[in-house]
Amino acid sequence: MKVIIIGAGTGGMCLAHGLRRAGIDVAVYERDRTRTSGLHGYRVGIDPHGSQALKACLPPELYRTFVDTCALPPKRFAFLDEHLRPTLTITLREPADDVNDEKSVSRMTLRQVLFTGMEDVLHFDKTFRRYSYEPDGRVTAHFADGTSATGDLLVGADGVNSPVRKQRLPHARLEDAGIIAVAAKVPMTPESLSLVPDWLFPGIGMVLAPRGMACILHSMEFPFLDQRFDGGGAESLLFDNTRNYLNWGLSAATGKWPADVMGLAGADLIGLVTAMTPSWDPRLHRLFALTDPTTCFPINIRTSVRIPPWPTDSVTLLGDAIHTMTPGQGVGANTALRDAQHLVEALTSGRPTLAAVADYEREMLDYGFRAVEASKAQTGGDQLVHRPVIGRAALAFQRTFLRATDRIPAMKRRFEASLYETRG
Ligand SMILES: Cc1cc2nc3c(=O)[nH]c(=O)nc-3n(C[C@H](O)[C@H](O)[C@H](O)COP(=O)(O)OP(=O)(O)OC[C@H]3O[C@@H](n4cnc5c(N)ncnc54)[C@H](O)[C@@H]3O)c2cc1C
Repeated sequence: MKVIIIGAGTGGMCLAHGLRRAGIDVAVYERDRTRTSGLHGYRVGIDPHGSQALKACLPPELYRTFVDTCALPPKRFAFLDEHLRPTLTITLREPADDVNDEKSVSRMTLRQVLFTGMEDVLHFDKTFRRYSYEPDGRVTAHFADGTSATGDLLVGADGVNSPVRKQRLPHARLEDAGIIAVAAKVPMTPESLSLVPDWLFPGIGMVLAPRGMACILHSMEFPFLDQRFDGGGAESLLFDNTRNYLNWGLSAATGKWPADVMGLAGADLIGLVTAMTPSWDPRLHRLFALTDPTTCFPINIRTSVRIPPWPTDSVTLLGDAIHTMTPGQGVGANTALRDAQHLVEALTSGRPTLAAVADYEREMLDYGFRAVEASKAQTGGDQLVHRPVIGRAALAFQRTFLRATDRIPAMKRRFEASLYETRG
């Protein structure tokens, strides 16, 4: 069997590793021109589902490199107000092992780790345009440069705007979640660190502010930058440019932003974020001012609309290509990794290929769209906090609830239990 994967992202590369380790012939086609091109964002949070999938699919030494190149694991998770006063602080458990914990990884580092050792199957500068079916049931992918590749199964792992999905399931749609976010990196220096409460590091802070505004803060400190690596680890990092940083991401309902926000970048965007948060603590404004403008960009958050199952054939989909979700639960990449693991398991189960793909699609549609819906419920422009008058009352209620949870041990234990249940 030959499997063709379109897209060398998180899900596509995990799948490629898993299939190759199982002895299945695989080829990956990626539109990026080189292994270092593209701005692939900043942090991605890998939960136990994601780690399990990576552990199952990657060679053991590469999984070790992945673990070793993560940022210091978060020790605390705190909700704050816009004056950086905590309303609820959770001290996170020490990692039990190298799978069942929450990991913070730089997207570029993860990408480089996933490319390691795959040079012979990975083809850059190949923009997929369309596919066609062969008379013998195989499928051919056609690329923008006029070349093509034929296999028994084609997997669209080509992300949110997936051209594979547009051809395979033209009725599948995305909709705006009603939220726009602006995200950026601030180099980690003594000054930038002094602006955020030191008890928050290493950790995750979520500022919940009036007008439905929220700002997430992550500290990304990488012990591996001071280490020497041998073998695959060294190769992965040769192409990586990650440094320690603080990451912030401010989100608000679409209507709160000026109409031209999606056309802004860099210093203009940082200026806009500062102007939109006049009552916020001066430390947060200073943090915005210290941002590296080349890392600042807006994101119009979108989400997939659920579709009913479809008849299986030799073209399938995984990850954002089929179930794009808001960052509400932080599980988009984890779900793409879970898809990759399930598809490897299905294709190596001994079942005929199409029956195996049908099994995969049935399961993936179920947990994938449940994750889409849960993420939308958590980050959607229709939430009460975004409404003009009632939004204030909703924020006041939210803060009272968080403070009460912080003070009442039984409530805090319940909150922690639910956090660990959904996120390991
Ligand atoms: C602000 C934000 C924060 C997030 N945080 C988290 C988090 O903490 N945890 C989490 O689990 N998820 C998070 N996500 C979601 C996560 O980033 C995505 O769900 C994940 O990257 C999807 O992986 P994928 O493999 O499906 O697609 P991608 O990783 O997007 O890969 C798609 C690949 O396909 C390539 N491609 C596209 N078109 C073509 C073409 N025509 N031909 C060839 N190649 C093509 C692209 O270049 C890319 O390499 C976040 C998302 C956002 C927006």
